[in-house]
Amino acid sequence: MADNDKIIDGKAFAEALRGRIAGAVSTLKAEHGVTPGLAVVLVGEDPASQVYVRNKAKQTVACGMESFEHRLPAETSQADLLSLIAKLNADDAVHGILVQLPLPDQIEEQAVIDAVDPDKDVDGFHVVNTGRLATGAPAMVPCTPLGCLMMLQDRLGDLSGLEAVIVGRSNIVGKPMAALLTGANCTVTIAHSRTRDLAAVCRRADILVAAVGRPEMIRGDWVKPGAAVIDVGINRVPAAEEGKTRLVGDVAFAEAAEVAGAITPVPGGVGPMTIAVLLRNTVVAACRQAGVTEPEI
Ligand code: NDP
Repeated sequence: MADNDKIIDGKAFAEALRGRIAGAVSTLKAEHGVTPGLAVVLVGEDPASQVYVRNKAKQTVACGMESFEHRLPAETSQADLLSLIAKLNADDAVHGILVQLPLPDQIEEQAVIDAVDPDKDVDGFHVVNTGRLATGAPAMVPCTPLGCLMMLQDRLGDLSGLEAVIVGRSNIVGKPMAALLTGANCTVTIAHSRTRDLAAVCRRADILVAAVGRPEMIRGDWVKPGAAVIDVGINRVPAAEEGKTRLVGDVAFAEAAEVAGAITPVPGGVGPMTIAVLLRNTVVAACRQAGVTEPEI
């Protein structure tokens, strides 16, 4: 079993990050009269999305920021949603806008992502931010991969020259993770469903990031001894007890932890970082919009 020193505790890391965010917010208010504001838009009644939105609002307020919640009925038209986004884009009290995905079928997700002002796009999904990230310009960076990078840098320090393998090439995790690790001077490989001999590719990695969505697919013998393993996957599987379920990652944790030098658990690893980074992005967005130097958080 893994010794505790190997485990990267995302919950504790996120808590410390929220503490730094609260400090930065209080300075922003006192010295510049700016209160960062985050608008979260939820369309429909998806139970998981409702929990996320509630948590986001709670943590936003706990860090001293303004939270603006917009709950719209499931039958909302795309035109009505776009008109709300236009209002939020123009509202000076709103520095960050997050539209909770997935959206109902009558609304085209890409049209909504494209409508958010790139400077308020705290999810970092707008193509302008994708381009800024790819070219090394100041961007709004997607929360989950940025949280992974923060934990890696905290654990390993300078990542220069390390071999990084990312399994998964989605626009929200795999690709921005690759851009961030390239920016941190890693040698980056992106693997996906067409990769040949995935196990051998993974075994090269000093940093192995799994963002696949397949329960415990990455086995212990795919991990290079001493590697840092970041498990982004969140998969619900049947538990031993009849009728119950439990969460597992994309990595077979017990096996991988025997070999890895550092590893994130599921739950309690990457997951808790995502909302904390969203709040951090909102503070950064508020600073940029107010022309204030960004604090180190
Ligand atoms: P996507 O489904 O968008 O992408 C999955 C990627 O995995 C694709 O690139 C796909 O390859 C690749 N893949 C699928 N099967 C295999 C395989 N057998 N071998 C190699 N590669 C494979 O997922 P997301 O990136 O959105 O999410 C990935 C996981 O991370 C999910 O479990 C999700 O729940 C979780 N997640 C967690 C977050 C958090 O806050 N912790 C936030 C976001 C996601 P191809 O492109 O070839 O199809």
